[in-house]
Amino acid sequence: MPAQVGTATHCPYCALQCAMTVTAGAGSVRGDTGRHDDATIAGRDFPTNRGGLCRKGWSAADLLRHPDRLTAPLLRGPDGVLRESTWDTVLPLISQRVRSIQAEHGQDAVAVFGGGGLTNEKAYTLGKFARLALRTSRIDYNGRFCMSSAAAAGKRAFGVDRGLPFPLADLDDASVVLLLGSNAADTMPPFIQHLRGAQAAGGLIVVDPRRSATARLTGQGQGLHLQPTPGTDLALLLGLAHVVVAEGLEDRAFLASRTRGYEDAARELARWWPERVQAVTGVPAPLIRATARLLARGARSGTAGGPGAYILTGRGIEQHADGTDTTTAAINLALLLGLPGTAGNGYGTLTGQGNGQGGREHGQKADQLPGYRGITDPAARAHVASVWGVPEVAIPGPGLPAVELLASLGRPDGTRCLFVHGANVAVSAPDASAVIAGLESLDLLVVSDFFLSETAALADVVLPVLQWAEEEGTVTNLEGRVLRRRAAVTPPAGARSELWIMQELARLLEAPSVFSEDPETMFDELARASAGGPADYSGLDYAVLDGGSPAYWPYPTGSTGTPRLFLDTFAHSDGRAVLVPVTPRADSAAARIPAPLLLATGRLLEHYQSGTQTRRVPELLAARPGPRLDLHPATAQGLGIGQGDPVVITSAHGEAQATAHLTPDLRQDTVFLAFHFAGAGNANLLTGGPTDPVSGMPEFKTTPVRVTCRTARTRRDGQAQEVYA
Ligand code: SF4
Repeated sequence: MPAQVGTATHCPYCALQCAMTVTAGAGSVRGDTGRHDDATIAGRDFPTNRGGLCRKGWSAADLLRHPDRLTAPLLRGPDGVLRESTWDTVLPLISQRVRSIQAEHGQDAVAVFGGGGLTNEKAYTLGKFARLALRTSRIDYNGRFCMSSAAAAGKRAFGVDRGLPFPLADLDDASVVLLLGSNAADTMPPFIQHLRGAQAAGGLIVVDPRRSATARLTGQGQGLHLQPTPGTDLALLLGLAHVVVAEGLEDRAFLASRTRGYEDAARELARWWPERVQAVTGVPAPLIRATARLLARGARSGTAGGPGAYILTGRGIEQHADGTDTTTAAINLALLLGLPGTAGNGYGTLTGQGNGQGGREHGQKADQLPGYRGITDPAARAHVASVWGVPEVAIPGPGLPAVELLASLGRPDGTRCLFVHGANVAVSAPDASAVIAGLESLDLLVVSDFFLSETAALADVVLPVLQWAEEEGTVTNLEGRVLRRRAAVTPPAGARSELWIMQELARLLEAPSVFSEDPETMFDELARASAGGPADYSGLDYAVLDGGSPAYWPYPTGSTGTPRLFLDTFAHSDGRAVLVPVTPRADSAAARIPAPLLLATGRLLEHYQSGTQTRRVPELLAARPGPRLDLHPATAQGLGIGQGDPVVITSAHGEAQATAHLTPDLRQDTVFLAFHFAGAGNANLLTGGPTDPVSGMPEFKTTPVRVTCRTARTRRDGQAQEVYA
């Protein structure tokens, strides 16, 4: 039998985009699980993972022939039951329903919700499909819940948003890394190898209310762990910057030659001395001073050509209703120290979803056109219109950011029809019960997925689509490096690519532009549409990407890409970075404290996003089978809660159920619940409320909650009765 040849591709999950080799298998059934070993996976050498994979990556092939896989369109009948149908039935039906809904309620009654896991080709085509085929302004995506604050802060300060403006391997040489709000040891384990240099130098500094797996890496003299009260990161960053300025540690030459706004930002810092910040954050003033001095020492070393300093942010400080300002405070600190734009030093943010970077560059955001262009910019509109072959007026204006879009579902003057691609909003969106009610009230819900996710289960039509290893495409990883995903296995008969679906629906809806099911054709069009924009891909094509040389954007025609942004200039018209003065708002979480308890939601090692995929991998589910509320033993004792007790968590938005897990790794005022689970354990039943005024980011990390113990008693009549202790 000839040896199977493996296909070089990348992991379907997070933004580290670990390289792997997928080898098609014989399709044998594994044990009595009903799963087929349709492919095997091996880690492949690549700068981000160096052959390593996490357990999610190792098990990704288990889902290719999973028994739950959808292989035929599903159509909800008059009796309310979803039944298998045919493509020839459902696509004309969808187009007819879209036409009639828009005739009755207007063009914007139809909306699209995308995902940060879609390939660049799909994200680009989805934006074009919404605006030209559906003729609606309403498109946004789940990256609004993920990267939007970091993106908004980056654009404000640097004029452009690329997660890491330097290759990840640059971190290897750092002596100091300040990691704010990221538990990378659990969410992207192969990343941790890039922190070894900082650990060895005693310079890994982790800011997290939890003593997370990443925070534990600072032990034994390898660094510092700062454990602020949730929601007080902005005050902590102002305190660090205060020390830098008060002790004269800033890089004055850099500030003078490469930035503007120093005076206004420094004036705001004056009132955030360490003892005051300690009172707000709970972080001891000596630790704040030690952190600032360590960072400044690393920065000076990096500027002089030695091991430097890096500041990296994650969702922990970004997923707040003041996430843009908090991330801005981190950028201000980095600019004071001269980190961005200095070789050997750096500032960046760790992107989460697999194509979180590319997914926000090519037009599925409410306010953007391909190439990271603003949708209200006349020159950008004219350029994209010329690529699409339509008059500029054919492109609608800005739509609604995700939270507003979901809040409009089912309203008489709101959204009556929703297309969902690459997202499971019934689990992942804040205020989940309101979102589910909105989905249920729609006139038409069309969901494209390869499993019957909780959102797909509510749909009128479910369209079965291809998985990562079954189709060609590209993604852009957390470094801004464009990568090829390649087809390694044959898709199941009946499933179709999303590009084919959009092509067919665009034809039925008589879109005034060409759509293609061919990924390479759509990539070439994307590259043309991006030309001249901040995220310029115009010098890229599949041949260049297949050539193997690193491809960091901007990659305009005739260039060889840009591994390191900002070495010479920033993207604002004057070439300077901007320090924007920020201060905690009166209605911030810090101002609300003391709350009963503050809930932070987040991710686990074993699961990804809403869990639609990873909850279907038995080994991952067995390791973390359900919702678990982490809380401090002293907190639990005060509430009469023991290890393993069933608990109810209540917020202003709803209640959720979980099992208590007592751990000293949390502050006594903080509880933690992962957001990968559905039903009564859905963490997003608890979240909601105001969003960030700049980015539209919801509040995910500081929800005031009450926790009670749920015990079951047996009444005399033998019926179980739930009571709350
Ligand atoms: Fe996949 Fe991320 Fe795990 Fe790498 S770290 S294997 S990209 S989930």
